[in-house]
Amino acid sequence: MSAQPLYSESQLSRAAASSSLRLAAAIAGAFGAVPCRGKDSEDWTSTSVLRRARAVAACAECPALIECAEYAALANEGWHVWGGVDQTPIARKKRNAN
Ligand code: SF4
Repeated sequence: MSAQPLYSESQLSRAAASSSLRLAAAIAGAFGAVPCRGKDSEDWTSTSVLRRARAVAACAECPALIECAEYAALANEGWHVWGGVDQTPIARKKRNAN
């Protein structure tokens, strides 16, 4: 299975696009062991704080965690759970207030 970028290069900076490829390769290499691709995948994009917290916890078991966190930082992801971090604006605001 070849690794496909998650976004086109025109949508992301060059570094983020490169990181996206590394993340896609890590996910492909995990052979189905990526929690956000499992039966509870909607937790990662849920409007529920509790469900997103469950997703954050599940990310800890992900073999692509490092690549995902790097990608999210470089791409400045502003929604959903990426790399074990809730990136929604309200969660960011709460972290920044602490
Ligand atoms: S670390 Fe990234 S790829 Fe892994 S489960 Fe979390 S959101 Fe999905």
